[in-house]
Amino acid sequence: YLPGTGKQEHGPSRPDFILVAIHDLTENRRVERMRSDFVANASHELRTPLASLTGFIETLQGPARNDPDAQARFLEIMLDQASRMRRLIDDILSLSRIELKAHIRPEATADLKEVVMHTADAMTPLARDMNMEIKCSVPDQPATVTGDRDELIQVTENLVENALKYGSDGKHVDIVISLDSTEPDRQSWDLAVRDYGDGIAPEHLPRLTERFYRADIESSRAMKGTGLGLAIVKHILNRHRARLEVDSTPGQGSTFKVKFPNTGGKAFEAGKIGGTR
Ligand code: ADP
Repeated sequence: YLPGTGKQEHGPSRPDFILVAIHDLTENRRVERMRSDFVANASHELRTPLASLTGFIETLQGPARNDPDAQARFLEIMLDQASRMRRLIDDILSLSRIELKAHIRPEATADLKEVVMHTADAMTPLARDMNMEIKCSVPDQPATVTGDRDELIQVTENLVENALKYGSDGKHVDIVISLDSTEPDRQSWDLAVRDYGDGIAPEHLPRLTERFYRADIESSRAMKGTGLGLAIVKHILNRHRARLEVDSTPGQGSTFKVKFPNTGGKAFEAGKIGGTR
């Protein structure tokens, strides 16, 4: 039936084709929902240190106006809160930058050995401050994967930073690269970061990579966490068709292992190499 003409479908002005547009609104709504949840959570996380800063400014203007000792103490806390806000903003920006690229597969190659050595060098001062040590074990042969070196450094740094934060004082953190050949047609390069800290209770494991999720809120706040580190790791790994496995024993420590498809440095071909689970 042609609108406005009054003519029936089988009349002389019958259209040659009809365009039917079917749009999947469910996926759109899910993404929209995730985005608005993220904005709400991010605003909430930023509001807490901001409220604390405002409170201290008011105290400095009023009751503590003539108290130099209190002023010194409050300024220190304020600096801490401002640093927390900066960390949150840095992580939020990192996550949104990576999300923009989420569907693009990296084409360059990276040597995991170089990534690990660079990370260990960069994190050694932090380890020393925490009275810990970083030990690396890498194979003789090159461990080449298809990937973006800087993003892989960010993954390794986030995992090592967590291992140092939640690891045990005075102990070490291990970074180990190995080739997993148990499935010959699905070889993978494994990059494992192990700590000997308190570990993670099993009920938290499935949710660790959710944004702002913290297994132990008190200890992760004390450890200056934002709850975004592992969400960033997960997004980068999705781009690399790599997957994260977590193995943790409460009281003994945790191992975060990344499995990279062994592409021999070739670019990804749709549906052929590896896969994200
Ligand atoms: P955060 O910035 O809080 O460390 P992450 O996203 O990096 O956030 O990690 C999420 C949560 O997972 C942490 O708050 C912590 O509770 C837990 N976690 C991560 N790594 C470890 C680890 N190596 N040992 C124990 N708990 C960990």
